[in-house]
Amino acid sequence: MPTPRTALYTGSFDPVTNGHAEIIVQGAALADRIVLAIGVHPGKTPLFAPDEKADLLRAVCADLKVAAEIEIVTFDGLAVDAARRVGATLILRGLRDATDFDYEMQMAGMNAAMAPEIRTVFLPASGPTRHISGTLVRQIAKMGGDVAPFVPAPVVGPLSAKFA
Ligand code: ADP
Repeated sequence: MPTPRTALYTGSFDPVTNGHAEIIVQGAALADRIVLAIGVHPGKTPLFAPDEKADLLRAVCADLKVAAEIEIVTFDGLAVDAARRVGATLILRGLRDATDFDYEMQMAGMNAAMAPEIRTVFLPASGPTRHISGTLVRQIAKMGGDVAPFVPAPVVGPLSAKFA
C-alpha cells in the first residue's frame, strides 16, 4: 500500500470562502489527509479569532464530504516548518490571477530552497470563484451586502453577525 499523502493548506481563512472550499475539494483529490493551517500573526487582529475560524472550517468541511481526512491547526511561523510538523509533503496554494501567481511563485521558490522535500502544488480557481477574496468579502459584509454568493452556508450568519 502506498504511504498516505498529507497536504498542508495554509491561509488566513478570515473567514473561509467558496474559493478556499474549492481548493480543499481539489486538494482532496491529491492527498489522503489535508491539514488546514490557520496563520496567526502577532500584531494583526483578524475579524474572526483562530478558534472561530477553526469552527467554521470544520462546519464547511463537514458539508463538503471529501474523501480526504481533514485536520485543522494554527501556526505562526514558516509554512515549511508547519508542513514538516504535520508530516505534509505537499503545500496547496490557490491561484486566482497574475498577482497571486507572482507572489506564490516567489513563495514556492523560497519554500523549495528551505525544504526541497516539500512540493508546492498550485490549484487554479474556477470561473465562479476566482473573484472571491477574504478582504472583499469582509468589506461587503461590513457594508451590509449579501455575502451568500461568496461564502459557504455555515459562514453567512456568523459573518453578518460580526457587523450587526
Ligand atoms: P485571501 O487572499 O482571500 O485573504 P487567504 O490568505 O486565506 O485568502 O489565502 C490562502 C490561499 O488560498 C492562497 O493560496 C490563496 O491564493 C488561496 N485562495 C484564496 N481565495 C481563493 C479563491 N477565490 N480561489 C482560489 N484560491 C484562493
